[in-house]
Amino acid sequence: MDAEKWKDTILAKSREYVEMGVSVASDLTEKGKTQAKILSNQAKISRAQRQLGALVYSLAKGNEENQPLVDRYIDMIDSIEQENRQLKAKLTPAEASEVEHASVDVEADMADVMADPVQEEAAPAEDAAETAGEAGAKKFCPQCGAEVAADALFCTKCGAQL
Ligand SMILES: [Zn+2]
Repeated sequence: MDAEKWKDTILAKSREYVEMGVSVASDLTEKGKTQAKILSNQAKISRAQRQLGALVYSLAKGNEENQPLVDRYIDMIDSIEQENRQLKAKLTPAEASEVEHASVDVEADMADVMADPVQEEAAPAEDAAETAGEAGAKKFCPQCGAEVAADALFCTKCGAQL
């Protein structure tokens, strides 16, 4: 194969990939985006619930109280659940039920959902932070500088949202 032919083959191949990319992107309908957002919210709710559980446990164990921080978690869970109810209202019952079934695997798929470019488009800063958290990087509270768990939603020292 001479150099010209080889170049043509490469160009044809890359056009093929570009077209594939375009068709994949157009498959992401409004419905798909809504479903992806609901799933990502559900993953966030279960993460907040786990952290709230751990917080309440450690407070009770140390015979301490931090009601403002507990309230922040509850408010956050409430507002995400409310958002999901609104999102589900946009779907047909069949589409909403697809999400219900998918949510069983949401923990396993969470990394995929987080890595989804559509998610980054929806909330770039937040998702970038979450991806960094998933990688296990050290994280510090921007308010008080305390070291916090990589996936913590709130600072345990000052209660700032992370
Ligand atoms: Zn803090």
